[in-house]
Order: sequence, then C-alpha cells, then structure tokens
Amino acid sequence: MTSFQSTNVIVGAGLSGLMLSECLINRGEEVALIGPSDTRVQTICTWRRKDEPSQYADHVINSWDQWQFSFGDHEQTHFGNCFIYEALDGQSLKKALELRLARSSSFARIVEPVEHSRQIDNGFEITTKSARYTAANLFDSRPPEFASNTLAQQFFGIVVPTKCLREKLTHPKLMDFTLPQRFDNALAFTYILPLTDDTTLIEATLFARSQVPYEQLRDMAVEWLTANTDRDFNDDIILYDESGCLPMGDVIPRFAGNPIGLASGSARPCSGYALSGLEKQLRRLTQQNGYSAVSNTPYSKLSAWMDNIFLRVLNRDPRIGESIFSAMTHGLSGDRFAGFMTDNFTGIDALRLIATLPKSPFIRAVLKNDN
Ligand SMILES: Cc1cc2nc3c(=O)[nH]c(=O)nc-3n(C[C@H](O)[C@H](O)[C@H](O)COP(=O)(O)OP(=O)(O)OC[C@H]3O[C@@H](n4cnc5c(N)ncnc54)[C@H](O)[C@@H]3O)c2cc1C
Repeated sequence: MTSFQSTNVIVGAGLSGLMLSECLINRGEEVALIGPSDTRVQTICTWRRKDEPSQYADHVINSWDQWQFSFGDHEQTHFGNCFIYEALDGQSLKKALELRLARSSSFARIVEPVEHSRQIDNGFEITTKSARYTAANLFDSRPPEFASNTLAQQFFGIVVPTKCLREKLTHPKLMDFTLPQRFDNALAFTYILPLTDDTTLIEATLFARSQVPYEQLRDMAVEWLTANTDRDFNDDIILYDESGCLPMGDVIPRFAGNPIGLASGSARPCSGYALSGLEKQLRRLTQQNGYSAVSNTPYSKLSAWMDNIFLRVLNRDPRIGESIFSAMTHGLSGDRFAGFMTDNFTGIDALRLIATLPKSPFIRAVLKNDN
C-alpha cells in the first residue's frame, strides 16, 4: 500500500469539504481532499442581505424579494426590504470548486472513499482501498449520527416544467400546508420554488422523529403537482429530482479529527438551513487561525436557546408546527423573519417573536424538559 503525507486531510468532497479546502489553500496551506466527487443535484437556498454581494454570483439560479406561506385557511406573503431569498445551483458550485482547487499545486485530490481513520502519535492516519495517508490535521465531513432527540428534516423534490402548472408562481412558497397530513407524529408540507421561467421545484418536506421511505415523499410531491395541474400525471414530466435528510438538533460526529459542515452542526436546528452556518464556521477559521474553530457551532447563544425550546415543542407534537409557523409568519415582517432564520437578530427581536407564538405549548416545554 502506498503512503502519503499532507499537512491537512479533508474527508468528504461535499460543499463543506470543498469550501474548507479552498479556505486552507487560500491561506497557503497544503490540502489533500479524499472522497468521491459529489455530483448530487442540490438546490441550496438561503436568505442574503441585499447590500452584501453574493459570493456565488455564477451559481445563482434565481432570487426573490418576496416569499409566501399557505396555511389551511390563509396565505401569508413576506416582503424583504433588506433580505432576498436566493437559490443556488449546488451542483455547479461543487463542480466549479473542484476545478478551481485542481489548479493549485498545494492541492491533492483522491476520489476513493475513506475506509478507516484514526488518531496516531503526532496526527492522524487515513486509509482508502489503495493508499495510506498521514496528516497533522484531519477534518471530516462524513454524515454524522443524529442525537436521540434530533428531528430529521427529510425531503424529496421533483423539478417539472412550469407550463404544467395551472398557475405560475412568481416567488417561492416556503411552506404549503394545503395537502392533508399523512405521516404519524410528523409535520409534512410542500416547498415550491419557481426556479426559472421554465422550471419549478416541488419538494415534499417532513419534520419527524424517524425517516420514511423516500417514495412516500415523492408521492406527496406528485400529489401536490396533480392538485395544481390540469394535465394527467406521467413520470416523464419530471425533469430531475433531488432529496436529502438534514438534522434539526444535535449531531454526534462519528469519526476522528475535526468534524466539519453538517457533521459539526452547521445546519440551523430550527430549520435545517446549513449554508450560512457553514460560511460562518469558515470565516472563523480564517479570523482566529485556529483549526477547531471550524467545528464550533456557528449559532449565537440566543438562537440556540430559542431553537432548543422550539424543538422541544415540535418534538412533543410535530403537528403543532403549522400553527407556530402561521403565528410566526403573521407576526413578523419579511426582514425580521429572514433575520431570525439567518441568526441576525437581537434580544428585542426575540421578544417580538415570542409575543407572536401560542403560549401554552412553549410554557409546557420550558417547564418539562422531556427530551
Ligand atoms: C438536496 C439538498 C438540498 C439542500 N438544500 C439546502 C438549502 O436549501 N439551504 C441550505 O442552507 N442547505 C441545504 N442543504 C444542506 C447542504 O447539504 C449543506 O449546506 C452542504 O451540502 C454541506 O454539507 P456537507 O458537505 O457538510 O455534508 P454532505 O453534503 O452530506 O457531504 C458529505 C460528503 O461526504 C462524502 N462521504 C461519505 N462517506 C464518505 C467516505 N467514506 N469517504 C469519503 N467521503 C465520504 C459524501 O460523498 C459527501 O460528498 C441541502 C442538502 C441537500 C442534500
């Protein structure tokens, strides 16, 4: 077996592995990135301040300064004065990062999966089928285990031609509760994104204590489409699909070294949105020049406290989520909602948010920690 050495080894070539590689290379360090090329389709959305230029300009699919919610009995539209909701093509972003990194002489790329990794004297040992690597620093982005009280946010999205839809959406519908709930102890809704003039993403999303077969979420997305089209459904309508499962709550890293990305809690517990958390973790690494900074939670104590209570409520009864989101989206302006979702909010904003929420489930959750 051949042996190699590098200052930094990063396991997993998803977004966090690639973005961390670029960060370290830009600092003049040597990096070996190990893991199969990640060619998964990923539509990655995030709120961004209008006055901050997007660092992903080449990969923006679309952006909107309005977003909407459909609850059983009413609709709610948010207007962003300071924030936009931006959809990125994660697949093209990953490809561009791979190409940029390949130009650096300090970068080594190994596309085999890692079989074992462990701490040794003075560093780490990582093995693939054909080689053994040693490194002073190891960063690992392989998917973590979910803690026992962590909800799973599971989703399956289908992309269809917009012309199939009876009514063309002009901005995203972040939560649509018009389909009946169908999963036990879970909150299901549809997320609809008018990606381009010609294509629309319809994503069935579930907040639940355990996962369901992906086919059931696909069926739900198809049901939403069927309810919103005049055409007969046929599988050929689906241009492509995407799916995933994100942690809503604590994660337990499974491997040696510094966990990164989803494995280090980059996903916001109350929403599963992960990109802005990952960006914050990477900025810390640059500023503090410390390797473990990249594994620390990117979220403020205030948002951690709010998310913890919210998740306790949701864990007791996921279905209550609809009334909570209804109250929250009704009581907050678009900017305040986006500020909360991106962890850009103050104690006063938190009080304003708490004032919008139904009180009794939260009081029960605060008094009785039954996670
Ligand atoms: C379809 C989809 C849509 C999403 N949408 C949003 C969104 O709208 N907004 C948002 O903020 N976030 C979104 N996310 C979350 C997004 O995944 C994260 O922001 C981002 O992908 C960072 O993930 P990661 O690199 O930490 O982990 P992952 O993406 O899980 O990457 C882990 C990597 O580890 C690799 N790996 C696994 N086993 C091995 C092994 N043995 N050896 C080597 N490598 C291995 C995998 O191949 C993978 O590339 C979405 C995720 C998915 C999947």
